[in-house]
Amino acid sequence: MIRFEHVTKRYPDGTPAVDDLSFEVAEGELVTLVGPSGCGKTTTMKMVNRLIDPTEGRIEVDGRDIAAEDPVELRRRIGYVIQQVGLFPHRTVLDNTATVPHLLGVKRGSARARAAELLELVGLDPAVHGDRYPHQLSGGQRQRVGVARALAADPPVLLMDEPFGAVDPVVREHLQNEFLRLQSEVRKTVLFVTHDIEEAVRLGDRIAVYGEGRIEQFDAPATVLGAP
Ligand code: ADP
Ligand code: ADP
Repeated sequence: MIRFEHVTKRYPDGTPAVDDLSFEVAEGELVTLVGPSGCGKTTTMKMVNRLIDPTEGRIEVDGRDIAAEDPVELRRRIGYVIQQVGLFPHRTVLDNTATVPHLLGVKRGSARARAAELLELVGLDPAVHGDRYPHQLSGGQRQRVGVARALAADPPVLLMDEPFGAVDPVVREHLQNEFLRLQSEVRKTVLFVTHDIEEAVRLGDRIAVYGEGRIEQFDAPATVLGAP
């Protein structure tokens, strides 16, 4: 579903942020990208939805070379959740979730009905939380809305960049469990960035272990942890 072929990204100062990266992620697979700060994880993610373009190499999503795709069209197939999700502050939780499908042409009533389903799917009660505004939610609840909104256009691919990084450890564990449950239902192809090896192990079908712009190991959690 996602394929990197010899991808290098050099920022203007010349140092490669990622260097000759090649890997594949299968349809429905959840791959965690783990490694210290500054080793190229976010750069990898941003190249998938063309927030940045590689200096060299080729990236395919669903068999298509994304360099030839309109970035706006591409992003309809790719949900994106970041550490501090930017919700529309003057729109309710339900409207935040329904906006994207509505913009894509889904009728307002259907978009709102679907949004309510998605809120339930991420563990929010639409009757309780749907009419609230983002500032009336906890950090963990806002991240859930971010996930619901990313799923609203039903994209086959999800990019998640430290989505649970800004909440306390107890809430984080809760969100991880909810996300695993959700993923078992929706089966998206997921790239999930974290600097927390425990999170990488819990969530990943496979783990890409980063160091200095390269993937040093790309394996199932048990193998990464050194099990025989
Ligand atoms: P990570 O997500 O693993 O923390 P990043 O992909 O953000 O790593 O960064 C990889 C490297 O690229 C780092 O050395 C970082 O300083 C550099 N970098 C990231 N974004 C830019 C940018 N816009 N301009 C120049 N260098 C950047
Ligand atoms: P204003 O309050 O100036 O009318 P908005 O309510 O449109 O502006 O947006 C305010 C905040 O919401 C900004 O910080 C912006 O980055 C964020 N925002 C706007 N559009 C989006 C979007 N599509 N996705 C995520 N965040 C957004």
